[in-house]
Amino acid sequence: MEPTLSPAAAGVLAGLEAAGFRAWVVGGCVRDALRGESPHDWDVCTDARPEQVAACFARTLPTGLVHGTVTVLWEHTPVEVTTLRAESGYSDGRRPDHVEFVTDLNRDLARRDFTVNAMAWNPRTGLADPFDGRADLAAGVLRAVGQPEARFAEDALRILRGLRFAARLGFAIDPATARAMERQAPRLRAIAPERVQAELDGLVLGAAAEEVLARWPAVLEPVLPEIAPAVGFDQHNHHHCLDVWGHTARAVGSAAADRAVRLTMLLHDLGKPDCFSRGPDGVGHFYGHAQYSAELAQTILTRLRYDNDTRDRVVRLVRLHDAPLPVEEKTARRLLNRLGERDARALIAVHRADTLALAPAWHDRLAELGALETLLDEQLAQDACFSLRQLAVNGRDVLAAGAAPGPAVGRALDALLQRVLAGEIPNDRAVLLAELKNLIQ
Ligand code: ATP
Ligand code: MG
Repeated sequence: MEPTLSPAAAGVLAGLEAAGFRAWVVGGCVRDALRGESPHDWDVCTDARPEQVAACFARTLPTGLVHGTVTVLWEHTPVEVTTLRAESGYSDGRRPDHVEFVTDLNRDLARRDFTVNAMAWNPRTGLADPFDGRADLAAGVLRAVGQPEARFAEDALRILRGLRFAARLGFAIDPATARAMERQAPRLRAIAPERVQAELDGLVLGAAAEEVLARWPAVLEPVLPEIAPAVGFDQHNHHHCLDVWGHTARAVGSAAADRAVRLTMLLHDLGKPDCFSRGPDGVGHFYGHAQYSAELAQTILTRLRYDNDTRDRVVRLVRLHDAPLPVEEKTARRLLNRLGERDARALIAVHRADTLALAPAWHDRLAELGALETLLDEQLAQDACFSLRQLAVNGRDVLAAGAAPGPAVGRALDALLQRVLAGEIPNDRAVLLAELKNLIQ
């Protein structure tokens, strides 16, 4: 299959060629186009120097001039154009000491991480593929370019990129590449937490996340040491047909493709090994594990520099991941009150994924979760009251009923809201005013 260039990518290639330079689309966009997907962006490489690139186009931004990258704005669409370069001397295991501009395309392709990412394409000259990336793409194999040990020692982030691509593409990892990933994994400790975070997000969101997590915990352990006790931990419980880590991997893979939900599944049971006990019948229990997992989640997400909103949401979802959710309207209202619509839905998604990762005999619960979600939809459609803002009385009414100004006002409103949420009284102004009288006397 021939890639079909976006108008912007085609325009940029043509602009560079018109000025006498050579240019190709390169990297992830070629990989995705050859797989029949439309690339989310097109990167271009060229033998033009950055200042020459800038001179070819009306509007450009100096994105990373030292690394040779100029962003061309082609009718408002940004295209990154990078001068062919070779890299050397990765003394810190993260970035090259020397970058030199070159004119040989193959030297630029040789610095790239995986064979499937090391192809370039030009509509006139065709595919440049010195490492046989096309064959690996067809076979579904992720293989480091060159000597895998050396490439991961140069830049350990490539190890996590490898797991992320394996999870996203569902590819197998070539054995020599896999061995090198395992051996070089301790170098991941030197990688900036923000970059680990980005790769971890991509990994858990991948279609093959379950397989990759289940197969490669040892590669993740340098950045997620908290997973080590879960690996191989027998639950001694008939709900479970998998050890804690196997269950975790399956729960991630079973979850809706939502970042917060998938991160929640990754972290939801990490506290289990420390909370394990066995009853007199030999059955395993994990009392308090949701709370303890939430504490671990807080530590991990803080360490990996997740934004506060994501961290707080995931920690809360982990804490509630095994709270009872009876199929009743009041559950729906209480979830909406406590979590808001987005996280009420996310919590149901978490329970669903957790259930899918149990032994099949327990999957009946999926129907209940579906019914609860329907109740949630209905409560929202009916504009049911689930917050103080929606209550048919307010602070002025409480004062008018004779309450003393101060915290008692909020307490009275909250007591009314709780009764409305529970379905004990309707959100009806006359009823609420009568209730207020009783409350205040
Ligand atoms: P995605 O679809 O996630 O953007 P991608 O392959 O385009 O995948 P990018 O991070 O956008 O990934 O990088 C573009 C290209 O640059 C890669 O395809 C690869 O050729 C090269 N590359 C990126 N990061 C590295 C790295 N750490 N080491 C070697 N080559 C890299
Ligand atoms: Mg890309």
